[in-house]
Amino acid sequence: MYKRVLLKISGEALAAGRGFGIDAIFVSRVASEIVQLANNGSQVAVVVGGGNFFRGVAEQAIHMDRVAADHMGMLSTVINAIAMQDAIEKLGIQCRVMSAIEMHEVAEPYIRRRAIRHLEKGRVVIFGAGTGNPYFSTDTAAALRAMEIRADVLLKATSVEGIFSADPKKDPDATMFQTITYMDIIKMGLRVMDTSAVSLCNDNNMPMVIFSMREEGNIVRVVSGEKLGTLVTS
Ligand code: UDP
Repeated sequence: MYKRVLLKISGEALAAGRGFGIDAIFVSRVASEIVQLANNGSQVAVVVGGGNFFRGVAEQAIHMDRVAADHMGMLSTVINAIAMQDAIEKLGIQCRVMSAIEMHEVAEPYIRRRAIRHLEKGRVVIFGAGTGNPYFSTDTAAALRAMEIRADVLLKATSVEGIFSADPKKDPDATMFQTITYMDIIKMGLRVMDTSAVSLCNDNNMPMVIFSMREEGNIVRVVSGEKLGTLVTS
């Protein structure tokens, strides 16, 4: 259904149950789903978060300069990107990490046209180091890169099934939306992703599907058009 996708995976997800670091088994499971997508003919770009190592707004960073802390956060996304690249290439698909912060020995610099060329050649592209700027999140990086590469959809893989009217862990009456608009997310104050990412997607008509990747195979299901999670549109 979707030819070119941008998949956002949070750093926390890569830690699986551990809360910190990388769960190698989970990373290779996600990698195998990405490889299936590529083998099915989809062009796959990935943005990984870094919350499993460091966040600029984390408690450990409370006494730090925010810019320095955000630099640490962005570098932690590169660690995740390399782990994911390794797992994908082990499964026989070429994968390039492109970093928004230059580090030639580790990753290619982010060059939009080159990223698109990699995708056209069937390589998976992982965008590391967020936007390269402090005060942003990897959700905003995902929205930005999705637009730049002209992805058909932004896929936000999370640990919950979709967008709920309230926190389903706290409110038994919480219901999941099948579809919702970006404006309604803002109006209802739903904490889906930061508002800069939401408004970027809204202003540029980028559809987004939020779904759980806890169940194996969900990434492939969403890309093949199965109705999973919540579809967000402008
Ligand atoms: N970050 C940043 N600029 C960006 C993207 C990320 O400064 O464009 C930093 C920020 O400190 C953030 C951290 O990198 O907290 C990790 O990213 P994020 O919190 O989005 O990761 P996730 O929650 O997806 O694991």
